[in-house]
Amino acid sequence: MSQYYNPSRSADWNYGGKKWRLSRSKIDLFLECPRCFYVDNKLGTKRPPGFPFNLNSAVDHLLKKEFDTHRAKKSRHPLMEQHSVDAIPFAHQDIDIWRDNFRGVEHVDAQTGMTISGAIDDVWRDTKTKELIVVDYKATSKDEKVSLDADWQISYKRQMEVYQWLLRQNGFEVSNTGYFVYANGRKDKEAFGGRLEFDVDLIPYTGNDSWIRKTLTEIRACLESDDVPKKGSDCDYCPYRETVGRTLQAKAGLRSDAPKKKATKKRVYKKDTSPPDTGTLF
Ligand code: SF4
Repeated sequence: MSQYYNPSRSADWNYGGKKWRLSRSKIDLFLECPRCFYVDNKLGTKRPPGFPFNLNSAVDHLLKKEFDTHRAKKSRHPLMEQHSVDAIPFAHQDIDIWRDNFRGVEHVDAQTGMTISGAIDDVWRDTKTKELIVVDYKATSKDEKVSLDADWQISYKRQMEVYQWLLRQNGFEVSNTGYFVYANGRKDKEAFGGRLEFDVDLIPYTGNDSWIRKTLTEIRACLESDDVPKKGSDCDYCPYRETVGRTLQAKAGLRSDAPKKKATKKRVYKKDTSPPDTGTLF
C-alpha cells in the first residue's frame, strides 16, 4: 500500500461523524457513481487516490501569488485587460479560508442538515455590478487550444456551479459568469532547457446551479438508506473487480464460471494461503 492511501480511516470522517463534510468533489463522485460515493462516505472505504499532480499544483500556486499582487494593489491583471473583463481580484478577510482545501467556503444546509464545502482558487469582483466572479485555475499540456468542450469537463462546470452556489448561500451576489484561467504547457519548443512555457487563456463559463438542490436531497436519501446503491455505468473498476473475484474463486475451487484462459505451461508457485476475494459488494 502506498503512503497516499489509508483505507481504514476514523469513523469521524464518515457521514454522521463530526468531521464529515460534503465537498464539491464528493458531490461529483455521487453523480459519477452513487455506489462508490456510498462505500466511501457511509461505509468508510475510499477509492485509492491518483498520484498527486505536483506540476499542476505548482501552476496553481504561482497563479495565486500573481493574482494576489493585484488583489493587494486593487488592480486588474493583464489577462483581465486582454479579455476585457472589468473586474479586480476580490479582497475579503476570509479569502485564505475559502482557498484552504481543508476548509473552503462552507454552508450548513437547513433542508438536509449537511455541511457543504468547496475550496475555490480565486474570486474576482465585477467593478460595475459588484457581483462576485468565481475563478478556477487549470493546467494542462495539449497541442490544440484549450476549451471546455470535452464530455469529461462536465466535472469542471459542476465545480464552478457548486462554488457559485456556496458563495450565494453565504449571502453574496454572484455572477452566473465564471472564468477558467487555463494554462497550456507548450511542447513546440526546440528543447526543455529547464523551462516549461505556457500559453494562458481565459475561458468564460455561464453557470446554472439549479441542479444542486435536487442533488442534495438525493445525496441525503442515499446516505440515510441501508441499501447499497447501483454502480455507475462508465467505470471500468467494478467489471475488473468482479472478474478478479470470479477468477480467485475459481482458483480456490469455489466456482466454475470464471473466464476461461488458454492452457499455459504449468509452473509451480508457493501455495497462496490468502482468503479469496468474493467480490460480492462490487
Ligand atoms: S463502478 Fe464500481 S468502482 Fe466504479 S465508481 Fe462505481 S462502485 Fe466505484
